[in-house]
Amino acid sequence: MVRIGVIGAGDIGFSHIRRITEDLHGGRITAVTDIDEGHAAQAAAFCGARVFPDGESLIASPEVDAVIVASWDATHEGYVLACIAAGKPVLCEKPLSVSEESCRRIVDAEMAAGRRLVKVGFMRRYDEGYRAVRDAMYGAIGQPLIVHCAHRNKCGYAQHCTENSVKNSTVHEIDLMRWMLGEDMRTAQVFAGRASSRGGEGLKDPLTVLLESESGVRIDVEVFINSGIGYEVHCTAVGEDGVADMPEPARLAVRAANQKAEYISDDWKVRFYHAYNRLFQQFIDEVQAGCLTAPSAWDGFMATYTAECCVKALYSGGIEPIAPLTRPDFYGKE
Ligand code: NAP
Repeated sequence: MVRIGVIGAGDIGFSHIRRITEDLHGGRITAVTDIDEGHAAQAAAFCGARVFPDGESLIASPEVDAVIVASWDATHEGYVLACIAAGKPVLCEKPLSVSEESCRRIVDAEMAAGRRLVKVGFMRRYDEGYRAVRDAMYGAIGQPLIVHCAHRNKCGYAQHCTENSVKNSTVHEIDLMRWMLGEDMRTAQVFAGRASSRGGEGLKDPLTVLLESESGVRIDVEVFINSGIGYEVHCTAVGEDGVADMPEPARLAVRAANQKAEYISDDWKVRFYHAYNRLFQQFIDEVQAGCLTAPSAWDGFMATYTAECCVKALYSGGIEPIAPLTRPDFYGKE
């Protein structure tokens, strides 16, 4: 049984505690910490874990074999580095960290430790819909040429700013495109048009992010944080021989009073429920086997590095080159 400590028992941290306790096998939550004592106490009461005063003592505890980092983005680096120093596997929520330099420190520390200890919570790789589109590429639709993506949230956090739309949200599409196409991006351009009145003052929302892969595949991403609709993601790939539309998960359609309506969930918890379960089950299994696979710290680094180039493009208004980086042999070919 893998004894797991969770740092950050807020919205997503608690959902992971619930899935490991109720849905998955091979793992048990033994330790929880959160700067919000109420969140920590509630989570600990739910799963029977011990509350630790801080992340550092949780990571050092002999009651903890592996760690989940689900606190805010700016806190990820310190906790992930502490896990590497303690030799404990860690699943870190996305983004791996807030800057290229910060992610680079994690990659360097992991390579210096000499074994893979970091997995990043890019759960969309585990979604059946995205997997089906990926399978169609170079298969049913032939060589991919264009990919259209949409990423809509119902409403953003109070503190959400335009850069977050890129560094916290579009990182998902950046990671997906690297994973689907098997290559990195070479240019970025970002357009902020008319802003929705639903966003806060000064928030540029929605954004259109244009990426070009190393081989020339064109990718457009609509990122709309305050759509007011619900949580929606879409992906359509156009290939040499056809088009692949990502299938939607089955949803109840109700016909009544001369109308047909389908429920759209509020957030990622429902839409990616099964994908998260697959990711976390794989993490537990890999901890037991002693070998972590992708999404790796390198994937987390590349997503944040590419997102920072997108932020430059947002401010310059031009096409920003994304300098190619060599993937260290340490991270294999996954
Ligand atoms: P949240 O509801 O605010 O939960 C974060 C929790 O961590 C809060 O209880 C917060 O306390 C606590 N915290 C903050 N700093 C801490 C620290 N230094 N040590 C321990 N606890 C700390 O936020 P969330 O929505 O769960 O997001 C958490 C992380 O998950 C973020 O990195 C986010 O990007 C990621 N996330 C990923 C996805 C995805 O699609 N994979 C979806 C949602 C979120 P306070 O409330 O007092 O600040």
